[in-house]
Amino acid sequence: MLQDKDRIFTNLYGYQDFGLKAAQKRGDWDKTAALMKVGQDAIIEEVKASGLRGRGGAGFPTGMKWSFMPKNPTPERPNFLVINADESEPGSCKDREIIRHDPHKLIEGALIAGFAMRARAAYIYIRGEYIFEAKVLEKAVAEAYAAGLLGKNAAKSGYDFDVFVHRGAGAYICGEETAMIESLEGKKGQPRLKPPFPAGAGLYGCPTTVNNVESIAVVPTILRRGAAWFKSFGRENNHGTKLFQISGHVEKPCVVEESMSIPFRELIEKHCGGVRGGWDNLLAVIPGGSSVPLVPAAMMMDVPMDFDGCKEVGSGLGTAAVIVMDKSTDIVRAISRLSYFYKHESCGQCTPCREGTGWMWRVMERMRTGDAAASEIDMLFEVTKQVEGHTICALGDAAAWPIQGLIKHFRPEMERRIAEKHGDNMLEAAE
Ligand code: NAD
Ligand code: SF4
Repeated sequence: MLQDKDRIFTNLYGYQDFGLKAAQKRGDWDKTAALMKVGQDAIIEEVKASGLRGRGGAGFPTGMKWSFMPKNPTPERPNFLVINADESEPGSCKDREIIRHDPHKLIEGALIAGFAMRARAAYIYIRGEYIFEAKVLEKAVAEAYAAGLLGKNAAKSGYDFDVFVHRGAGAYICGEETAMIESLEGKKGQPRLKPPFPAGAGLYGCPTTVNNVESIAVVPTILRRGAAWFKSFGRENNHGTKLFQISGHVEKPCVVEESMSIPFRELIEKHCGGVRGGWDNLLAVIPGGSSVPLVPAAMMMDVPMDFDGCKEVGSGLGTAAVIVMDKSTDIVRAISRLSYFYKHESCGQCTPCREGTGWMWRVMERMRTGDAAASEIDMLFEVTKQVEGHTICALGDAAAWPIQGLIKHFRPEMERRIAEKHGDNMLEAAE
């Protein structure tokens, strides 16, 4: 259980001002140059030692990612840092809170991370719908420039570093790192084939690291309090504090910073006042944002909320956007709605995703109404397998997994609807 003294995001609920003066009172920008003085490689080693894994969903070790960046950039081929603030995953809303209330943690983190990776500048790509947040961020960046914390000799560190805020235009796919790079370059946001990874060829063909907002915003505190402090939370391979975003059928939905690996039940009891109608009323949980499979209630109770814990029950921690569904949920309809989302957001570049997402959604709609044939359940599962792993980016997988989770755990409910509409003979015919 995380103590108040161990919280990184001390202004998560906006009880204080987001501006520079208040942020400095909270400890941000305190002797930043001294933190940087240890040198670039030492910072990367410290971040590696902290066990920090990417907070955007994939959980790739942050320090390792930074170490892929070339150590000898030139003015013709500089290194870049891109910060992914295109938070669009259904259920995810943590980066929004950081930007609204603690933007200086992100900006100071950008300078330190950019310095560690020998980057010339950071581009913060913010979701187009975050209009208020973009204004807050732009104001905070302007304050940092005015105070000499960015630009030439940033924070008196001897390092020149710029931060640019770039607004997206409402496409979910631009949160995929290479689509984001394309979009920053002024092109249509469509993912690139990987490899090459951005560290090899990223923004304008230059070495680039794309990191999530939370991953960058925790860096100054990790350096101030030490890797061992951060690593002391959670368990092996799953360290640190983490922002959880809990929505759906709980008494009090919230965004909260907690220790990684906190058991699911404790997280919900402690911060959300429990499940609406009591624990017996819990139907299923999507533990990490809509791109990971749902987990039935009985399997979820004691799960440690971390990368490995969620994986062990066939799902994922993703962005730690915990979507709680009670027994009033029409689970087939809920997953069908997610299918519509992925169909709508597919960039259309590769055939299995472009055609498959539309196909899956149309079948899911017939599953919802009970108009599908029972034999189509297996066919639908087979199609998800044809989409999964056969696309350029992870959107194809994200569209396939929720349906796979539904069929795996709630097949009887799908069959019940079909039988109800057509009579039991439809089921028998399928068998
Ligand atoms: P990924 O596993 O392909 O990559 C993760 C990161 O590690 C990337 O930055 C990638 O460049 C880097 N990487 C991986 N292997 C590498 C290698 N061999 N060499 C160098 N770098 C390497 O995952 P992804 O497609 O970037 O992200 C998928 C995740 O995004 C999903 O798990 C989902 O939860 C999450 N997601 C988040 C949001 C959001 O709003 N935050 C939206 C959609 C999806
Ligand atoms: Fe575009 Fe979908 Fe292919 Fe990703 S998987 S590149 S979103 S068509």
